[in-house]
Amino acid sequence: MLLIDTHVHLNFDSFSDDLDAVRDRWRHAGVERLIHSCVEPSEFSAMQAIADRCPELFLAVGLHPLSTELWTEALGDEIERLARSDDRVVAIGETGLDFFKADNRSRQIAAFERQLEIAKTLDKPVIIHCRDAASDMVRVLHDVRERLQGLPRCVMHCWAGTADEVKAFVELDFFVSFSGIVTFKTAEAVRESVAVVPDDRLLIETDCPFLAPVPHRGKRNEPAFVRSVAERVAEIRGLSLDDLARQTAENALHCFKLPQPSSLPI
Ligand SMILES: [Zn+2]
Repeated sequence: MLLIDTHVHLNFDSFSDDLDAVRDRWRHAGVERLIHSCVEPSEFSAMQAIADRCPELFLAVGLHPLSTELWTEALGDEIERLARSDDRVVAIGETGLDFFKADNRSRQIAAFERQLEIAKTLDKPVIIHCRDAASDMVRVLHDVRERLQGLPRCVMHCWAGTADEVKAFVELDFFVSFSGIVTFKTAEAVRESVAVVPDDRLLIETDCPFLAPVPHRGKRNEPAFVRSVAERVAEIRGLSLDDLARQTAENALHCFKLPQPSSLPI
């Protein structure tokens, strides 16, 4: 079975002691491609060093909405430069809007708009984080779409909102990625969202080290656990695990333009 974890953070301290064992477990679980997200560009060299050890790992570069106190035009230029500097960069992000934990709205929007532009210029998808900001985000996306005459490919990562909200993103042709939240007892709205995403737009992720799915909830999350996410999403959509894995892997290969499985020297 081929699984693709479209959102990981392996450069965090919680993986510094046992990354080789973590890698062995994801390989054993059938995870053959992973996308490493980026909270701020200063992480990039550490991410490259991890990718040197794990050829199945591909990279994003960008600035998280909760790190936008760092935002300057020059940092936007740096994101673009880093994205052009390494063939393993397959996405821009994570970027987006988070009005749950921060109130610097205009700064978040400026950083988000610039990263959408970079992604459009480079023909790479943009990885989007959205929390308590769906209606503002839709408005920004419509503006940017008009200004740039189209949007880059957009990946809504770790979707945790409602089915009604996600429909607006589906209309904008988003890919929508679900995390371990789908396994949480209280996440009925997220499970309703799983049911409204088109077949060819569905992705899965761990967002590790956060949000470990049941039955690992409360522990450190790791890429091997994407299988638990896949099982729950398959159940919601009435698919076998094999079919769900195949479908989400095809979508990820297409969205991020990843090399086909078995074409890498692992
Ligand atoms: Zn993330």
